[in-house]
Amino acid sequence: MVTQTSTDQLLGTPVVPGLATGPALVVRSEISPAAIEAFDGASLDEEAALRAYDDAAGAVAAGFERRAGSAHGAAAEVLTAGAGLARDKGLRIAVRKHLRSGEDLLSALAAGVEQFVGVFTQMGGLMAERVTDLRDIERRVLAHLVGEPEPGVPTPQEPSVLVAEDLAPSDTAGLDPTVVVALVTERGGPTSHTAIIARQLGIPCVVGTAGAMGLRSGTRLLVDGSTGVVELDPDEADTARRVAADREVRAAVEGWTGPGRTTDGTSVKILANVADGESAAGAATGPVEGVGLFRTELCFLNRTEEPSVEEQADIYSDVLSPFSGERYVVVRTLDAGSDKPVAFATHDGEENPALGVRGLRLSFDNPGLLERQLDGIAAAAERTGTETWVMAPMVATVAEAAGFAEAVRSRGLKAGVMVEVPSAALLAHRMLEVVDFLSIGTNDLTQYAMAADRMATDLAHLTDPWQPAVLQLIAITAHAGQEAGKPVGVCGEAAADPLLACALVGMGVTSLSMASAAVRSVGARLGTVSMATCEEAAEAALSAPDPQAARAAVLALLEG
Ligand code: PEP
Ligand code: MG
Repeated sequence: MVTQTSTDQLLGTPVVPGLATGPALVVRSEISPAAIEAFDGASLDEEAALRAYDDAAGAVAAGFERRAGSAHGAAAEVLTAGAGLARDKGLRIAVRKHLRSGEDLLSALAAGVEQFVGVFTQMGGLMAERVTDLRDIERRVLAHLVGEPEPGVPTPQEPSVLVAEDLAPSDTAGLDPTVVVALVTERGGPTSHTAIIARQLGIPCVVGTAGAMGLRSGTRLLVDGSTGVVELDPDEADTARRVAADREVRAAVEGWTGPGRTTDGTSVKILANVADGESAAGAATGPVEGVGLFRTELCFLNRTEEPSVEEQADIYSDVLSPFSGERYVVVRTLDAGSDKPVAFATHDGEENPALGVRGLRLSFDNPGLLERQLDGIAAAAERTGTETWVMAPMVATVAEAAGFAEAVRSRGLKAGVMVEVPSAALLAHRMLEVVDFLSIGTNDLTQYAMAADRMATDLAHLTDPWQPAVLQLIAITAHAGQEAGKPVGVCGEAAADPLLACALVGMGVTSLSMASAAVRSVGARLGTVSMATCEEAAEAALSAPDPQAARAAVLALLEG
């Protein structure tokens, strides 16, 4: 473990911009080893041990349900899902199996959970993310068994910086941004649960921070969510000045009303990423010119049968209708597979699903799936009168792009493809000969360019869109768009980073699409820089040796 005395600052991956200061509140999830030692599991026979497990798991579930009762929206859903996992029959069967084979209760609990961790990890993607939830349940059940309080996030007595190994959804559900001013985690990447929650709450967040768990609670921290620097015991006067300046920036962000443009008037479309009618209605109330990514597969994650064309048209109309008039919506066809299995579409048992039959590839042996979806989209576009563009995910060859474009255009819609596979970026100029627009999915483009699973918490330094190789691929794509005179947008998480967004615009990107929560900070930042500065920022980022240097160079240019 790195101790805090060895350095006066720690460095992590910045995921939510902003400066915040406060004492560290270090969340430790271990349970007292003495209590575990004192637990006499061997004295329980199989039946008594299973009863003790049921009581402990039941108490954990009841605790989640109680908190769910007083929570709302996503927080309530997360807590209800936690209760479900604690009561999971499969987990109970696994524990019982180990008890039957003669193991004592604590070993049976550990082995049962391990078995599930193995299964979830093997499945990869979103399922692998559930490992954090499972470990959380394990610690809570263990705490009940050995008579300790359940571990978790204590309520801070004063505005504090929460420091943790990584945060489980149950830790962050209901987190109060008035007392938690920033989040710092030792593990986790830009797409981790912690990052998503911090983005929703709008609090500065740094993940993958080596040495964070070596901090002592009470140490004063200054967290910079733009650079990833966490300063220990910072100078008070300097901190007060910088935090006040940041507050001004945040006030400008709150007051940003669009449209997106640089100080010299270059227009950049600021768009929202949405998942369904509800999120589209919410996004439509914000200062966006439309939707840059409608992830249609998210509407069908729990469906076993393919919805009819009519039902699809209804679902898509709910997303399109709030944007009728001057605005437009980019609908992405099913990106099922890998971390987003959809029962009626995806292939089972793939060895390496991220490199398997996902996205557009599902239509290779099932063309009807794509045809029916396009019919549903076209019907929704006609019904709502909303300008509708359609793009395909996971396109690797020009022939795939051409075939897709033909199918989309035959329905009178504008056709594009996502640039997520490095081959598509390298051939962007040829892709643009056959499609109307490109949209760069930096989450997958980074994963495939760096050969690093986007969900792997230990690879956050590689799954960083500021990596020089990823920036080169983006620049090639944007340049091809400029030459062809066709739009090239970015719709991955990179677009939500205000600093990187300016560099992307400097490379020639014409639209930025992001979670609604990020729209104002990106739009406001872009409104403070000229196109010439954006171009310099692009140059600086592209020639930097690594992500840290690239961020520092762009920050210096933008604030210099
Ligand atoms: C991306 O890969 O950047 C993207 C926007 O698609 P998704 O995150 O849905 O895979
Ligand atoms: Mg993707």
